[in-house]
Amino acid sequence: MEKEQNQTIIEYIQKHDKKYEKCGFSTKCCHIGQEPDYVTGAVNPAIQLSSTFAQHEPGVPYGPYDYSRAGNPTRSNLERLISGLESAKHSLVWSSGMATMMGIIHLLKTGDEVICIEDVYGGTQRYFKKISSIQQGIVFKFMSFDDIEEVKKSYNENTKMIWLESPTNPTLKTVDLEELVKITRSYRSDIIIVVDNTFMSPYNCRPLEYGVDIVVESATKYIGGHSDLIMGMTSTNSNDLQDKLYFIHKSIGAVPAPFDCYMAIRGIKTLSLRVERQNSNSMKIAQYLETQPHVEKVFYPGLESSPYHKIAKKQQKGFGGIVSFVLKGDLNQTKKFISSLKIFTLAESLGSVESLVNHPGLMTHMSVPEDVRKYLGIGDGFIRLAIGIEEIEDLIEDLENAFKGLEIN
Ligand SMILES: *Cc1c(COP(=O)(O)O)cnc(C)c1O
Repeated sequence: MEKEQNQTIIEYIQKHDKKYEKCGFSTKCCHIGQEPDYVTGAVNPAIQLSSTFAQHEPGVPYGPYDYSRAGNPTRSNLERLISGLESAKHSLVWSSGMATMMGIIHLLKTGDEVICIEDVYGGTQRYFKKISSIQQGIVFKFMSFDDIEEVKKSYNENTKMIWLESPTNPTLKTVDLEELVKITRSYRSDIIIVVDNTFMSPYNCRPLEYGVDIVVESATKYIGGHSDLIMGMTSTNSNDLQDKLYFIHKSIGAVPAPFDCYMAIRGIKTLSLRVERQNSNSMKIAQYLETQPHVEKVFYPGLESSPYHKIAKKQQKGFGGIVSFVLKGDLNQTKKFISSLKIFTLAESLGSVESLVNHPGLMTHMSVPEDVRKYLGIGDGFIRLAIGIEEIEDLIEDLENAFKGLEIN
């Protein structure tokens, strides 16, 4: 192929995304990174499986790619799309959410301190406590982020990173991102603020718009949306952070396969529809649970009774697809309730089209020490629902039947 032809194709791809820059979120989901094939007009870009790329002369590849660990056309399509959704200049996709966490922590060096929200995702907690702090000597301080002035008191000259989730898992504590950024910047401007936005997806919240430095997500959840891929993603508006993350990404090689990138793009096409439905189903389920005599407490920031309602309303488009609650009952009754559900599948994870039920104490949060679980309010009766896109009537009927089963005994 002639060099001029290569150039025309590259320009065609670059021009494509510009057309959708000012469009709404759902339009972006269906178009950015998804240009029709230049030669055949195929409306879906082909999956590019090639591991290596031809060069015109030594060191002059045909296009921007030379080796797929460093860059791959299908992966680039997904990264362009994710940047469009997260209001970001740059994005990278990683082989899993956890590989993403590792990549970000590689920005730090021994002795650096990370201030971390206390109920951070269990896998993240395990990586921080059992690997990063022991093997790399990174210092992690875990605390509640309910009062950010209090958080600020633990900042010192070694503090290099703030790590949080909003909302947290499974009690859905929500952090005022604008306030966190303001207070942290007033202390020192170069502290890297990282938000794990997995529970929101960019449809419900875009933390970069509030000035955080890096947004990270497990794309395994809402982005993929069909429980059929494992992937992570980072987005940032800082050229410096992107350069560093990209160097780590290609050096450690935590890259996803092109086929998985294609699957993620396919998932994102319907992200808005799925999340809108999950938001509305979740709200109705939270309201229903609040009326149930067997329920001691419901955790859902969409409820006016939630202490996080105001913050969530301010910074989110919707309240998300996770509803947690505490059943009035012992462990056996809770297990019985969970096992009698027919439409909710008993499984870990979230964000997919099918509704799931999880007992954090025995499943996702089993590795969290019992006293910490108690402190966080995750007891025997604690149940987490990850709401899917099924008919709301069916979901509520399923819960209703499980409650009735409790009454019999
Ligand atoms: C699932 C999850 C992760 C880990 O992502 P994987 O894709 O499973 O590696 C990280 N953070 C949160 C909040 C998650 O829910």
